[in-house]
Amino acid sequence: MGRLKALEKYAEENNVPIIQKEGLNFILNYIKENKVKKILEIGTAIGYSAISMALIDENIKITTIERNKEMFSLATKNVKDFNLEKRINIIYADALEAEIKDKYDLIFIDAAKAQYIKFFEKYKSNLKENGAIITDNLNFHGLANNPEEIHSKNLKALVRKINNYKEFLKENKEFKTNFYEKGDGISVSKMD
Ligand code: SAM
Repeated sequence: MGRLKALEKYAEENNVPIIQKEGLNFILNYIKENKVKKILEIGTAIGYSAISMALIDENIKITTIERNKEMFSLATKNVKDFNLEKRINIIYADALEAEIKDKYDLIFIDAAKAQYIKFFEKYKSNLKENGAIITDNLNFHGLANNPEEIHSKNLKALVRKINNYKEFLKENKEFKTNFYEKGDGISVSKMD
């Protein structure tokens, strides 16, 4: 089994949410087409998306933030196994509290969905000119467009927050956002 496949299998067997194949391919194409070299990722989990992005080109450097200790440890081990520790810097912190000074070609938001607006507002100043913020899970497994199918209160609140984030992006005057029905729903926001 390929090593990336092994990570997919681990994620599935241990209920670790990782990006869907279609969404990942969309991002990998974006990175290739736009010659992205510096990436900030919010939400590492086991390092699957960071490793996949780093493998595209040896000049790509990634900083990725993870607040869960177990995930951070697993990601650190996985990144070492791929010999990518020089190009993937994993920061163990809550992304809402981390202090990141660098500027990036791409910021990939893939952490707690209820905080998407906060992540966007906090990290937009870390974008280089022409950079983009990509967000995953905007359809939330199809539930975002069918809120009547949800019975749990917590889930309803989460879906409301995701839909608020979409409205926030649509109405944003600083950024222009395109939405794509890829994977679990992806947006690409660029400074207008
Ligand atoms: N990007 C990963 C991939 O596709 O391989 C999947 C990330 S998973 C969907 C979300 C991760 O974000 C979880 O591991 C969770 O612990 C982390 N997370 C959630 N909120 C966070 C925050 N405020 N700061 C840092 N990490 C956070």
